[in-house]
Parts: sequence; C-alpha cells; structure tokens
Amino acid sequence: MAPPTKVIITGAAGRMGKRLVSLVQESKSLQLVGATERKGHPDLGKDAGDLAGCGHLDVSLIDDLAKALPQANVIVDFTSPAASLNHLAQAVQHKRAMVIGTTGFSPDEMNQLQKHAESISCVQAPNMSVGINVLLQIIGKVAQALGDDYDLEIIDIHHNKKKDAPSGTALILAEALAAAKGWDLQETGVYSRHGIIGERSQKEIGIQTVRAGDIVGDHTVLYGGPGERIEITHRAHNRDPFARGALRAAEWVVKQPPGLYGMADVLGL
Ligand code: NAD
Repeated sequence: MAPPTKVIITGAAGRMGKRLVSLVQESKSLQLVGATERKGHPDLGKDAGDLAGCGHLDVSLIDDLAKALPQANVIVDFTSPAASLNHLAQAVQHKRAMVIGTTGFSPDEMNQLQKHAESISCVQAPNMSVGINVLLQIIGKVAQALGDDYDLEIIDIHHNKKKDAPSGTALILAEALAAAKGWDLQETGVYSRHGIIGERSQKEIGIQTVRAGDIVGDHTVLYGGPGERIEITHRAHNRDPFARGALRAAEWVVKQPPGLYGMADVLGL
C-alpha cells in the first residue's frame, strides 16, 4: 500500500478545522502530522484529536507552521484571508502542496493568492462540496435555456458567526450565471436592495444575504419568469461535505504538477 499523504491542518480548533482533523483520523490514506492555530489561541498545546473529539492523536496544536512543514506533503487551510496568504507564502518557501478553503479574499488578496499559488500545486475553492460543484456545471445552462424572460437571483443563508458576505459560494454561483449570459458581474451584480429602487432591470443578478442561527449553508438559484419560477437549492446539513472535498483535493493535489487548480479539476468535471 502507498504511504499515507501527510497533512497539516491550519486553524485546527475552528469549525472546519475540527471536522478536518476527525476525518483525517478516520482515513487510511491520510495522516495528520501537524495542527496549527493563531498566536494566543487558548487551545495551543492541547491535542488536536482531543479537541476535535476523535480521540488522542499525539499532535499538539502549535502556532508556528514552519515547525510542522518539513514532515508534511500538504497543508489544508480554512482560516482567514490574511492567515491563508501567510501560510501560502510558507508553503511556497518549503515547496509543499496546499488546499485553500478560506473565503472572503479581497480582489487584491485574490491576485496575490493567484500569483504565489502557481509556483506550487494548489487547490483553491470557496466551496469544496461535490453538490455545489456539480450545480456550478448546470446553472448557467439553465439560465441560457430559459432566456431573457427569467430574472436571476441568488440567496445565500448562513449561520450568524460567518464573517464575509455574500458567501464565496454565492459569488461563484453568480459568476457562473454571468458567464453564461455573457455579462460582467461587476456591472450586473446587485447586492441586497433597500428603499425606492424602482423596477428591477432584466440585466441584473440579485445576490441576497441571510444570516441566522446555526445554519451551515444554504444556497438557492432562483429563475423567476412569467407565471412560473424554478428554484435550485443546495443545503449543507453539516460541514462534512466541505471537509471531505478538501481532503479529496489534498490527496489529488500532491500528485499534480505546480499550478492553481479548482474543485472541477479535482472532481474531473
Ligand atoms: P472558524 O472561525 O470556526 O475557524 C477558523 C480558525 O482559523 C479559527 O480557529 C482561527 O483561530 C484560526 N486561525 C486564524 N488565524 C490563524 C493563523 N494565523 N494560524 C492558524 N490558525 C488561524 O471558521 P470556519 O467556519 O471554520 O471557516 C473558516 C473559513 O473557511 C472561512 O473563510 C469560511 O468561509 C471558509 N469555509 C469554506 C468552505 C469551503 O468549502 N471552501 C466551507 C466552510 C467554510
């Protein structure tokens, strides 16, 4: 049997980090060799497996990624934009592969990410679930088939701890619709509405944000036409679809030549 892929989870005490640690522990083809958290985090020094609730793993939470990097093949990162860019710089320096699931990058941060990620093997995707990535393949075709009589709206519903809005997933759904219509999302994206805004124009993609309770993540693409509407909804019941997708990407990316890849590449879509 091939040796396991050695993984570092950054942000290992976070919501995604804990599920990633548990799923690495369940996997026969992956091995946890490092777990990091931000400086000053109250759980530093604790065992990553104990924290994730999957049993003791003998991997303590540290705040210095460089210490764990020599043992690893790949970093799986769900942290914050600033932390992800810092981790990417270290991955480039140590020539390690990386999977980036963090969302909320500004255009400037995304440019930096793209510039650096190409010198290593890197997967970056704002949504790593199989369901959303399959949806991305079809929503533009549905918009094209329905034609100009159907208004396009996206509704993003998440838990009240989420920091960025709209979600990274809502943005890639909007981009897929805009591309299919031949529109520029910068000009046609309408982010929430308020006041006397007048009639809706045909050439716009509405992107609405709802934040409430502990909802893991729902996205609806709504095509509103004369006398009927179609709604395509993806609901994540828990964080495992994202974590499983990220770990599938980790196993895949270590075998790829340098370059920046997306989930469609990982899934062969
Ligand atoms: P979270 O706040 O629960 O976890 C993030 C963790 O990163 C925290 O524990 C934080 O302390 C840690 N962190 C911050 N800076 C760090 C640093 N310098 N080094 C190490 N750790 C650091 O958030 P979450 O819900 O787990 O989400 C994390 C990110 O992943 C968000 O951007 C979220 O939108 C994104 N996300 C993406 C997907 C996807 O499929 N791509 C799915 C879910 C969440």
